[in-house]
Amino acid sequence: MAEESQPKPFKPLFPHQPAATASSSTDSKKDDDSTTKLANGLVLDKDGKPCRLCTSAASWRAMTKQAKAPAAAASTTTSTNDSVAKPPTSSESKPTSLPAPTQNECPPDVEKLGRSTWTLLHSMTATYPTKATPEQQTEMRSFLKLFSRLYPCWVCADDFRTWMAEPSGKNEPRLGGRSDFGTWMCEAHNEVNRKLGKKEFDCRFWEERWRTGWKDGRCD
Ligand SMILES: Cc1cc2nc3c(=O)[nH]c(=O)nc-3n(C[C@H](O)[C@H](O)[C@H](O)COP(=O)(O)OP(=O)(O)OC[C@H]3O[C@@H](n4cnc5c(N)ncnc54)[C@H](O)[C@@H]3O)c2cc1C
Repeated sequence: MAEESQPKPFKPLFPHQPAATASSSTDSKKDDDSTTKLANGLVLDKDGKPCRLCTSAASWRAMTKQAKAPAAAASTTTSTNDSVAKPPTSSESKPTSLPAPTQNECPPDVEKLGRSTWTLLHSMTATYPTKATPEQQTEMRSFLKLFSRLYPCWVCADDFRTWMAEPSGKNEPRLGGRSDFGTWMCEAHNEVNRKLGKKEFDCRFWEERWRTGWKDGRCD
């Protein structure tokens, strides 16, 4: 059903991706912008601060762990002195209204944001008219244009916009009707999958995945 993607040896399209899994970029601005990528996979925002929405959960955790390390070491040193008042433990200082840790209600990282967004985007194709009027097509084109400017992971947005604007026009949104639009979105998603070194999705099955449910009945 799905084919294996072949990571290619090109220069990174995503400044935050390792070269081995990223593709070439037409956006020279990002190629020059070494400030966006740090060795630990952390991606910086345009203001130079860490961009959580552009960074994987693992890299983010590594950064916060590193940042906490000196503080933890300092508190270990002071705790050996009984005359020094200890700060409350993290559980003592938490208000009772906090969700249980198992609920994992934390701000999204690049992956969580991506999964939720693909759900929205593919669901939009699933509910798109089988034959769209000119007005519906214009609205969707505007949405995609704005989306590609406003998506909170700015490096993702930049690349998505660059891909859509490929000079030959081959990646322009196909908005005539649901079937075309759904397949186009699947191809757009596969472009990101390829760049991240992930398996491609077989676009013949986009509608089973996102609209009707699988024919074997597992979603019924
Ligand atoms: C526009 C956009 C750009 C992004 N750019 C980046 C980026 O530059 N760097 C980065 O690290 N992350 C990026 N992401 C996030 C990335 O695509 C993934 O969402 C994230 O890595 C989590 O991946 P996942 O393996 O959980 O599945 P996802 O890729 O989020 O996919 C969710 C589900 O969609 C289905 N699916 C997979 N491929 C397809 C397809 N082609 N068509 C239809 N359905 C499919 C599968 O059932 C899968 O489980 C971007 C997301 C979006 C929406």
